[in-house]
Amino acid sequence: MSKVVIIGAGGVGGVVTHKCAQLPDVFQEIVLASRTESKCRAIAEQVPRAIRTAPIDADNVPELSAFLASEKPDLVINVALPYQDLHIMDACLNAGVHYLDTANYEPPDTARFEYSWQWAYREKFEKAGLTALLGSGFDPGATNVFTAYLARHYFDEIHTLDIIDVNGGEHGYPFATNFNPEINIREVTAECRHWEDGRFVATPAMSTRQSFACPEGVGTYNIYRMYHEELESLAQNFPSLKKAQFWMSFGDSYLKHLEVLQNVGMTGIEPVAFEGREIVPIQFLKALLPDPATLGPRTRGKTCIGCVVTGVKDGKEKTAYVYNIKDHQDCYQEVKSQAISYTTGVPAMIGAKLILEGKWRRPGVWNMEQMDPDPFMEDMNKHGLPWTVIEDPGFNLL
Ligand code: NDP
Repeated sequence: MSKVVIIGAGGVGGVVTHKCAQLPDVFQEIVLASRTESKCRAIAEQVPRAIRTAPIDADNVPELSAFLASEKPDLVINVALPYQDLHIMDACLNAGVHYLDTANYEPPDTARFEYSWQWAYREKFEKAGLTALLGSGFDPGATNVFTAYLARHYFDEIHTLDIIDVNGGEHGYPFATNFNPEINIREVTAECRHWEDGRFVATPAMSTRQSFACPEGVGTYNIYRMYHEELESLAQNFPSLKKAQFWMSFGDSYLKHLEVLQNVGMTGIEPVAFEGREIVPIQFLKALLPDPATLGPRTRGKTCIGCVVTGVKDGKEKTAYVYNIKDHQDCYQEVKSQAISYTTGVPAMIGAKLILEGKWRRPGVWNMEQMDPDPFMEDMNKHGLPWTVIEDPGFNLL
C-alpha cells in the first residue's frame, strides 16, 4: 500500500491530484493538504475517486511533522511555494517520509533561488534512508531528464544545451501569469545568467532574444534568455557542457505590462508603508491578477518545451532536439487545467510514482538528471506528455 500527501492546492496541486488519482495501483491513498482547505475540497470534488483533504500550514514545522507522523504517508509531494521547501523537508525528516518538489528553495525576502540550501540536506536524508527528489516539474524536471536521456542515448559527450520553453497559449487577458504570479514575476525579472566556459555569465534580464520556429506548426515565437534553476545542477552533473542556456517565449503584451509594473514599483518585494500598515507590492499585485488556476477554460493554443543538445557521437559532431507539445484545451478536458500546470503536475506524479515503485528510491537529495532517465521517459509517453526526438534539426541558435 502506498500513501501520498500532496501539499498545495493551487494550479499544479490540482493536476497532481488528478493524475495520482488516475493510478490507484500506485497511489492507493491520497491526502491533499493546503493552507486553505476549501481549495483542497474543490479539487477533491472534481476527482472521480475518494481522496481526503486537510488544512495545513506548511511553514509550521512542528504542526506539519505531527500531521505527517499521524498520517504516515510514504511520500510528500510538495507543490506549495518554493518558500515552503525547507520547512517541508524538515518535517519529512522528522516524520521519516520521502520528499519531492517542483521548484527550488527561495527565501521570501531575497529574489535569489539556488540549490545550495536544499543540497545542504544531502547528508541528513542519506542518514535517514530517505529520498528527496528536487525539481520534478517540467522545467526543471522533464528538461533535466531530456538532457540526461539525450546524453545517454545520442551522444558520447555533450557540449551545449539550450532549453527552450515556448507557450503559444492565449488566455485573452492583457496580463496574467500561467503559474503563481509572485514566483513567476520574481523569476522573469531576475538578472539573466547562463553557463559558459566553466562559469555563470550575468547579463541584464531579458536583454538577449531570438526567434524560434517550433516544430509541428506550433508557430514562431520570440524567446528570451533567462536564468533558470536547472542550469545550476545540469552544469555540475554534465561537466562536459561548455555552454548551457535557458530560453522562454513572451508575448509583447506581457512584456509591455511587466515593464510598466516594474517601472512603477509594483513588482517590488520590499514591504512599503501604506495607510498605517505594511504591504509587499508584488503580493498586492498577485491579489489583483487572475488566479492561474482559473485560466484553464480560457487558454487556447499549445506549449512546446524541449532541449537542443549538441555534442559528439562516434567522433562526429551532431545536434539532437527532444520536445513535448501539449494542447491547453486537451489538458482542460482531462484535468480542468491549462497546460502550464499540467506539464508541471504530470512530471511530479511520475517522479512520485518512480520513488514509490523503488526505481528512483535512493537515500539522499537528488536532481532529476542524476536518476535513470529511461523509466521517466517511458512514463511521459504513457501519462500525457509524449515526446519526440529530431536529430540534426538544422537550428541556428545564438
Ligand atoms: P499556486 O499559487 O496556484 O498554489 C500554491 C498553493 O500552495 C496554494 O494552494 C497555496 O495556498 C499553497 N500554500 C502556500 N503557502 C502555503 C503554506 N505555508 N502551507 C500550505 N500551503 C501553502 O501555485 P502553482 O500551483 O502555480 O505552483 C505550485 C508550485 O509549482 C510552485 O512552487 C511553482 O514554483 C512550481 N512550478 C514549477 C514548475 C516547473 O516546471 N518545475 C512550473 C510551474 C510551477 P493558498 O491557496 O492558501 O494560497
